[in-house]
Amino acid sequence: MRKYGKIVVVLTVAVLVLGVLALAGCSGGSATPSATTTTPTPAANLNLVTPGTLTVGSDTTFPPFESMNGTVAEGFDVDMMNAIGKELGLKVVFQTENFDTIIASVVGHKFDVIASGMTITSDREKTINFSDPYFDSNQSIAVLKASGITTETQLYGKKIGVQSGTTGEKWATENLKPHGATIVPFKDTTGAFNALQAKSVDAVVNDLPVTAEIIKEGPTRGFVIIDSIPTGEQYGIGIAKDRPELLAAINGALAKIKADGQLKQIYDKWISTGQ
Ligand code: GLN
Repeated sequence: MRKYGKIVVVLTVAVLVLGVLALAGCSGGSATPSATTTTPTPAANLNLVTPGTLTVGSDTTFPPFESMNGTVAEGFDVDMMNAIGKELGLKVVFQTENFDTIIASVVGHKFDVIASGMTITSDREKTINFSDPYFDSNQSIAVLKASGITTETQLYGKKIGVQSGTTGEKWATENLKPHGATIVPFKDTTGAFNALQAKSVDAVVNDLPVTAEIIKEGPTRGFVIIDSIPTGEQYGIGIAKDRPELLAAINGALAKIKADGQLKQIYDKWISTGQ
């Protein structure tokens, strides 16, 4: 069944290692890349919202993938998009967006792509295209250590904080709600974890690497991961379906930065395995 306590740390590391393997896997066969080293589509054909600029919509409250350092966005996705932009000869601008409406916004061409730790799901693929996967992720359950809660079943009938519109919300709705839990959606993970600290929810279900980072950044906040949920998610860059040239260009640039080690460097910079 579930594994708890120190095992969670092991699982966390395992998940992060899986992320590395995913990167390695995606760049597998790099000795003979197929279409990966061809010249990307010229920027002029990409129908960008602002010509010459790749405008990226992102919920910038999701460390280590994207967060605001003052007025500047930083994180794995930011470095990755900057590397992709460089390959394509484009300036990259991050624009903060609400995660819950980010898909509708990219469809409406408010910006060119979504880079927001977004999981590729068949449901979302009905509305947008995704680039090839760039990161493997899972879900997690965090509680206040002082609550004494150590198992998933102790959350039956309790309040579960989630970020609205996420795969974490979906998992909690499918797996805890049937057992009498109340799912409480928040605009972002910051809101969900603030509520956990204030004890207005009993747990937060959220992407494992992000919860691990939030705990690492705030060790005195009293959070602990009690469960890692192997949902086997993969993050992709979201693009409107009527921008196939942009999708091809992004995939070409992504394959290049996987093959030449840039993405691995970005992984090593932002993803810590020591937590
Ligand atoms: N990976 C999760 C999802 O796609 C959460 C993403 C996020 O909150 N930025 O739903």
